[in-house]
Amino acid sequence: MQKKFSYIELLSSTFQGYKSIKCKSCNSRFRINELSRWSISALIPLLVILFKDYLLSLGKTNAMLVLGLYIVIIILISPFLAKYKQIDENK
Ligand SMILES: [Zn+2]
Repeated sequence: MQKKFSYIELLSSTFQGYKSIKCKSCNSRFRINELSRWSISALIPLLVILFKDYLLSLGKTNAMLVLGLYIVIIILISPFLAKYKQIDENK
């Protein structure tokens, strides 16, 4: 049975390369679905494309700083964007 995972559980999964999460009530495992994973990864290049001129105007150091901050923000909000699906334990 799928339960709601906590923000911390989801964040910890993201930090471990979208590691699967075990449901504490039935021991089944859940993993981020491919579409969510792809969408979250696409947010980073999307920003670079959309704000290319702005980033270039900042200079290399500031642009890296802004990008770094943006990546941290994406990681922090990813638990709200990610959809998880049950996976086969034997796979
Ligand atoms: Zn369950």
